[in-house]
Amino acid sequence: MKYRSTRDNNIIKDDKIALLQGLSEDGGLFVLENLDDKKINLENLIDKSYTEIAFKILKLFFSFDEDKLKTAIEKAYSKFSTSKVTPLVELKNAHILELFHGPTSAFKDVALTLLPYLIQLALEGTNQEILILTATSGDTGKAALEGFKDVKQTEIIVFYPKGKVSKIQELQMRTQEGKNAKVCAIEGNFDDAQTAVKNIFLDEELQKKLGNKKFSSANSINIGRLTPQIVYYIVAYIDLVKNKKISLGDKINFVVPTGNFGDILAGYYAKKLGLPINKLVCASNKNNVLYDFLTTGTYDRNREFLKTISPSMDILISSNLERLLYDLSDSDDKYIKSLMEDLKKNGKYQVNNEILTKLKEQFGSGYASDKETSDTIKKVWEEEKYLLDPHTAVAYKVMLEQNLEGTTVVLSTASPYKFCTSVANAVLNIEDEDEFKLMEKLYEFTKVAIPENLKNLSSKEIRHSDVIKKEDMAKYILEAEKCLK
Ligand SMILES: *Cc1c(COP(=O)(O)O)cnc(C)c1O
Repeated sequence: MKYRSTRDNNIIKDDKIALLQGLSEDGGLFVLENLDDKKINLENLIDKSYTEIAFKILKLFFSFDEDKLKTAIEKAYSKFSTSKVTPLVELKNAHILELFHGPTSAFKDVALTLLPYLIQLALEGTNQEILILTATSGDTGKAALEGFKDVKQTEIIVFYPKGKVSKIQELQMRTQEGKNAKVCAIEGNFDDAQTAVKNIFLDEELQKKLGNKKFSSANSINIGRLTPQIVYYIVAYIDLVKNKKISLGDKINFVVPTGNFGDILAGYYAKKLGLPINKLVCASNKNNVLYDFLTTGTYDRNREFLKTISPSMDILISSNLERLLYDLSDSDDKYIKSLMEDLKKNGKYQVNNEILTKLKEQFGSGYASDKETSDTIKKVWEEEKYLLDPHTAVAYKVMLEQNLEGTTVVLSTASPYKFCTSVANAVLNIEDEDEFKLMEKLYEFTKVAIPENLKNLSSKEIRHSDVIKKEDMAKYILEAEKCLK
């Protein structure tokens, strides 16, 4: 299987290299060369389990030995607390696709339980070592740390923006175990961390100093992160057919709480593979750079970075949009390169009308303020006794105001307990200092079970306390790398 860079069609890598490398050497993102030729047969998937469907999808993207790929998938999803992996829950106005039943209670687990196994398969028979660098807005960090903990031939360093993740998210990361893992806070925001990490990937001098160790990424710029996310769109569709909510072939909508555009891009890829999708709706919080883009065609990150109660979506540079634009421009690498240069130089770009028209045909968009998010959590709890996390609530609010035809699925990306200060505040109107007391109170009131991994967090030892300036990340990596393993 061949992957090309979005910024240069002449850079072509096989799937294993694309997976290990993460980002193309020219700064572009890897996309599968003949994606347009790949199609799924939905009818054949009706009686299949999650892992069987995952296998059918992933073998379109990776050339691994089939039995080994199957085993990897089974091992990864045995770590979920339900064999359905991503169950659907029916509410009055939409179906909620719960993506948070993995080991760290965020949707990132769907990809990050599997990615380490894919990387191990790609490393098989080599003595290559991989250093995973990850920038996180809160959830990727923990899910990646848990996935790569003590995995052979790999080390992982996670950077998160100090004071810009939830207390539970921070505690999850700072208590991380594993001899090959390091966590560091940076003074800055997620975009600073992601941009610095991307620059470090492209820094040849730094790479030389690491010898046989190569950088890779656990962010959704990595195809190994993106592809497993395609699966649950298809599984959700099949579930709706099986439950007689729709007939095979009916078009449905997905509303996706969006930050880096990874999750919703996976939905777009599912559609390309043949999944009948009417609209993909991109839901943002007040950092609504994507809403502006999808309505005007101008992407402009020159604006204030706002801290919200849905911190995992506090992002102004949505990396994966580049893959979508590459596809909508019929793989026009020079055009994409020029847009990305505009973005780097001026912090903005404008797409042509042809692309804007295609965007508007396929995507809806909307956003929610913190107040609207909080009101939605309260309303859905009171009316339907269903507890939304703030990210899912953003999507739910956006869903309600769109005029969507047919059945709609809202992606639920995190357990409400990961953000219990905001959720307890919305539902109970309390704002205790102690997160764990809030967790208990929220449980007593709602009887929604607290995930085990979060309950145990209060008794875990703090193992990571480093805080650095964003300019010092490269230096930090060189020092940290020596102490790992
Ligand atoms: C990462 C994340 C998102 C955004 O997903 P993207 O793939 O970055 O668009 C939404 N909600 C939660 C809870 C997340 O962790």
